[in-house]
Amino acid sequence: MKSPFLSRRDFLKTSALAVAGLPLLGTQAAEPKRKIGFALCGLGNLSTHQIAPALQTTEFCRLAGIVTGTPAKAARWKAQYNIPDHCIYNYDTMAQMADNPDIDVVYVVTPNALHEESTVKAAKAGKHVLCEKPMEISVARCQQMIDACRDAKKLLAIGYRLHFEPNNLECVRLAREKVFGQLKSIEAGFGFAIGDPKQWRLNRALAGGGPLMDVGIYALQAMRYLTGDEPVEVSATQSTTDKTKFHDVEETISWQLKFPGGLLANGEATYGFNGPNRFNAYAERGSFGMEPAYSYHGLRGHRSDGHEIQLPDIDQFAAEMDDFAQCILNQRPTRVPGEEGLRDVKIMMAIYEAARTGKAVTL
Ligand code: NAD
Repeated sequence: MKSPFLSRRDFLKTSALAVAGLPLLGTQAAEPKRKIGFALCGLGNLSTHQIAPALQTTEFCRLAGIVTGTPAKAARWKAQYNIPDHCIYNYDTMAQMADNPDIDVVYVVTPNALHEESTVKAAKAGKHVLCEKPMEISVARCQQMIDACRDAKKLLAIGYRLHFEPNNLECVRLAREKVFGQLKSIEAGFGFAIGDPKQWRLNRALAGGGPLMDVGIYALQAMRYLTGDEPVEVSATQSTTDKTKFHDVEETISWQLKFPGGLLANGEATYGFNGPNRFNAYAERGSFGMEPAYSYHGLRGHRSDGHEIQLPDIDQFAAEMDDFAQCILNQRPTRVPGEEGLRDVKIMMAIYEAARTGKAVTL
């Protein structure tokens, strides 16, 4: 099945515009009447250190509200960002957002297994939802999120920031335009040595799995956006060397996806060591890739013909949020809809099944 998130033509069109530093909507990008109000739901590391600062640099968005279970954080954010009391919620009062026209979007930034709960609450309150990756911890929950937003006639997007990152988009162009000929093989991996053994990322109930769910998803995404295709078969192996720390989720997992036409993609994700942060794509007449590929800044691309891949280092979160705001303002679909998040969760569940059973899983 072809990836339906963007047709090849649309992807080339939008990525070329992004690479050129032009507005993604070209001439259709009307001046907004007002900025889209975002409420951040879950004020942890990502919200604090990336999303809230990025919001200050966006063109079409503003930080309008917060959802937090911690009163001390509410007071801190209120003071720092001048958030009025009527825009401060906790997880139990989200329904009251229905009466608040200042908030257009809820950006869900909680642990993975809590995404569905807040997404459904936000949709029922009549808000659009931007939800962090991975979308949720099961296909069924992803589907409930899609259904809730569809029923509420609200947009749902997943926080796949690299779909807005010029260097990644350039690699997609190289692949889709077959600049080095037909792709033959992809390798991709992402991993780091995780710290605090008590954190939710090591708790299966909250995380849904280990490094695959958290960072392997980037390598999986690279395989899918480079090929523009969906895998038909998956095999996988997982391994743990530190059973004290990794008793609930895997420490390291590697997987292989087979795509229609026979392309094989090999992936790896780990929490056990400061591992790869890269992808390489091998084609008939050469290769290209990125390392680092998935960081917030400092991404570097390479091509076997010596040409550089060195496009602007943007704020990926600002680009992602501005694009979502423009989708709302101009009533157009997002390139990273809930269906895209669900596809990854489905493949990751198949990777876990293949690792558990030792057998290839057909998708
Ligand atoms: P974090 O632990 O720093 O923050 C999580 C927040 O959720 C905290 O404010 C915490 O108080 C709140 N929370 C609410 N209920 C909770 C519960 N029952 N247990 C634990 N925390 C609870 O995590 P983070 O790094 O900010 O990640 C949040 C989400 O963002 C995750 O889904 C993660 O995968 C995603 N993320 C995405 C990127 C990216 O580059 N797009 C980067 C980091 C994290």
